[in-house]
Amino acid sequence: MANRYLVVGGAGFIGSHLVAGLIARGDEVVVFDNLQTGHRAAIDARAHFHHGDLADPMALHAVFTGRRFDGVFHLADLSLVGESMQSPMRYLTINPSNAGRLIDACLRHGVQRLVYSSTANLFGTADTSPIGEDAPIAPASAYGESKFAVERMLLWAERVHQLHSACLRFFNAAGCDPGGRLGEAHFPETHLIPLAIDAALGRRPPLAVFGTDYSTPDGTCLRDYVHVTDLVAAHVLAMQRIAIGSVRYNIGMGRGHSVREVIDAVSRIAGRRVPVIAADRRPGDPPILIASADRIIHEMGWNPAYSTLDDIIETALIWRRNHPDGYANTAMQQRQTA
Ligand code: UDP
Repeated sequence: MANRYLVVGGAGFIGSHLVAGLIARGDEVVVFDNLQTGHRAAIDARAHFHHGDLADPMALHAVFTGRRFDGVFHLADLSLVGESMQSPMRYLTINPSNAGRLIDACLRHGVQRLVYSSTANLFGTADTSPIGEDAPIAPASAYGESKFAVERMLLWAERVHQLHSACLRFFNAAGCDPGGRLGEAHFPETHLIPLAIDAALGRRPPLAVFGTDYSTPDGTCLRDYVHVTDLVAAHVLAMQRIAIGSVRYNIGMGRGHSVREVIDAVSRIAGRRVPVIAADRRPGDPPILIASADRIIHEMGWNPAYSTLDDIIETALIWRRNHPDGYANTAMQQRQTA
């Protein structure tokens, strides 16, 4: 049966893939996004778009008025670890207060299910690896702390108001729509895989490797990369699952790849060497972040289909080769055909 969903942050990297995935299933989708980091051209043309900011309760009220949503997906946080360490108060203020307004709007308008995109960063430098859901919370950055504050808020929204929620702690989201229409287009770009690809393609300066003296096998950080299409599948399953109660899941492949391994894989797949320079560690970066996804696999039957490092890099490479200017050309084409 088709459902109607609100996707907050539906113009962003993961949000735009989620919108396309829901529409492909036959669901009706409303997107709410301030387009600060997202792209109008990334939103599937079949979705209804509301340009608005979570800081504006009237705009939120307007999107809920006259519609009954079966559930809400929240993917609209400020999300850069490095930036959060330069402006911690901005993150600690904006992410929780925006989420608070969204939760409040859900409660006022009778929405009973919310899926929240959380982060592995809230585990900080964990003592165990892979990291399960019950590992101690010790955020490595103000970003992680702000996401944990939202998770706590959701706990109280359930205790007091019976709002069911899923907190999905992504490890490293990467890769692009295998169909090649959607991709990763951040400005500024800070993520390893798109930066490494652009460096290989000669579109950016050499890649700075942030820290080569970590206590890891090759001295660089290990991360658990998950394909965005598999993350979308996890969101859809989680929305169904929370009909019977709230859940918290870690989402990764249970496998770590070092920065150097990613660089080698990009060089091999692109057929061009990624030029690199060694740089200082980036504040807020834990050395190792690898998920145990046992719980989401066993409880929901999550079955990732695209998340080998090669699949991730191949799909990201297709997008960046075909869209050297991100969504700029798509937007221009849309204006010309309008
Ligand atoms: N990284 C790097 N150079 C860059 C960008 C990232 O060495 O220009 C490293 C970063 O320190 C981390 C890993 O690549 O160890 C993944 O970083 P990314 O920003 O892609 O994701 P995060 O782990 O912060 O979510």
